Amino acid sequence: MVESIIQKQFRQRVESSFNPKLIKIRKSTPMRFPKAIEDYYVKQLKSMVDKSYRYFLSGLPDIREIYYKIKGKRPGVIKLDDDSDELNAELLVLFLMMNNVYNKNDIDRITEQAAKSTSVFNRNQIVKIIMTKIGISLFLSEDWLSEELSLWKKQNESLILNISNKFKSDLSESIYRGIREWKSFDDIVKDIRVSYKKTQRRAELIARDQIGKLDSQLTMLRQVEAGVKSYVWNTKRDKRVRPDHRSRQGKVFKWSKPPFDGHPGQPVLCRCWAEPYLGDILNMPESHI
Ligand SMILES: [Zn+2]
Repeated sequence: MVESIIQKQFRQRVESSFNPKLIKIRKSTPMRFPKAIEDYYVKQLKSMVDKSYRYFLSGLPDIREIYYKIKGKRPGVIKLDDDSDELNAELLVLFLMMNNVYNKNDIDRITEQAAKSTSVFNRNQIVKIIMTKIGISLFLSEDWLSEELSLWKKQNESLILNISNKFKSDLSESIYRGIREWKSFDDIVKDIRVSYKKTQRRAELIARDQIGKLDSQLTMLRQVEAGVKSYVWNTKRDKRVRPDHRSRQGKVFKWSKPPFDGHPGQPVLCRCWAEPYLGDILNMPESHI
């Protein structure tokens, strides 16, 4: 059987040790989450929503004018025809301005920054955990890394564009529904504000979830490259842990056999983490409770 990276490095440590009997597998300190990077990403995605919203607000006085034109002409039931062309044209201009915020260069820069920093942070955590547990300084070639990061960037680019598209369709829906239902302009503005708030929450949720997913994915790929076959499921041990995950605390899982909802950190906003379980591959006792 071919030795894995971790088995080889560990054997070398044992062989060069003064007293190999003293070498034990220790319990690791908790893996830290890239909170600062998550905050950065949330801030960037929310600021794009803000900027595009400001563009939209800049056109609101024109929309109000069109609204009163429609309302003044046809009390009662409104047929959206010629005036709605004017409204369509106005919205189109505003949406094009909003699209400028979501240009490829900016999205590329933001996702690149988030992906690279998460990767560096994650690598340091994995190296630290292996060092704490068995005293070796893990070195991986990570040939898969650049492809993995560009895949994540692509997915995120499309998620970010989705935030913008959904926002635009919510905004035009608020206006058209408002006109159809004969709402006051103030009420339409209230609906617009609700769409904005909803979009902010969406952007935040996506940003948090995506940093967590990338961090968790890199944990798996790095452990698997090292030759780690299983992990101990660790929760944050607080009230927010979902019941399904609470019952997995301290249990050993195989990387090749994920539970129904995925490995730690894969389910939406899951904060659990995978501590490498080394007892099986190093033929040593390891307590994992
Ligand atoms: Zn969890």
